[in-house]
Amino acid sequence: MARYTDAVCKLCRREQQKLFLKGDKCYTKCILEKRPGIPGMAKPQRGKPSAFSIRLREKQKLRRMIQMNERPFERAVTNATAAREASGDALLRGLELRLDNIVRRMGVATSIKTSRQLVLHGHVKIGGKVVDIPSYPVKPGTVVSVNVKLKENVGVKLSLETAKKLSNRPAFLEFDETALSAKVLRIPERGETSFPINDQLIIEYYSR
Ligand code: SF4
Repeated sequence: MARYTDAVCKLCRREQQKLFLKGDKCYTKCILEKRPGIPGMAKPQRGKPSAFSIRLREKQKLRRMIQMNERPFERAVTNATAAREASGDALLRGLELRLDNIVRRMGVATSIKTSRQLVLHGHVKIGGKVVDIPSYPVKPGTVVSVNVKLKENVGVKLSLETAKKLSNRPAFLEFDETALSAKVLRIPERGETSFPINDQLIIEYYSR
């Protein structure tokens, strides 16, 4: 599986948008304001971007925010287009309810990379059973818990502090800091998802 190993800030600079890939640093020492240019491009592009380029960039933005490879991302879009509701809404909700993203939204991790690592290392349980699949679709009514021993972990402590400062936990999660767990109360509403993108452009990109 291809893995991106270069500096993640370059991805934000490429998309000209904060993608929050570096955890706590994204809230304190973001490089995007200091180096706003697109990497490898000395002068700004001339002319209007093509319709294809606009759709491609939107797709890349979302794929990078959720840190998915092209194949699984394309599969997620195909599943969303087969859903009964609007394809864009189904795509965003599906991504929002992935286990790695729920752990991030709990505030236990500030980046998707860290939350995925917690899942892969067996620190996350659903209904008391370890689930180590980051893409696991969490259903409403489910309780997701993170190993309480991790409260002593420096990274987790920092993330919890950041979440408290930003108070950005979504209303569809009922977080219990003592048990380091969260109950998914309902399906997230459109405005509660963490991906500020135009989903219609992504659906159009894949329906070429
Ligand atoms: Fe993106 Fe975070 Fe780097 Fe800022 S600090 S450019 S938001 S990865």
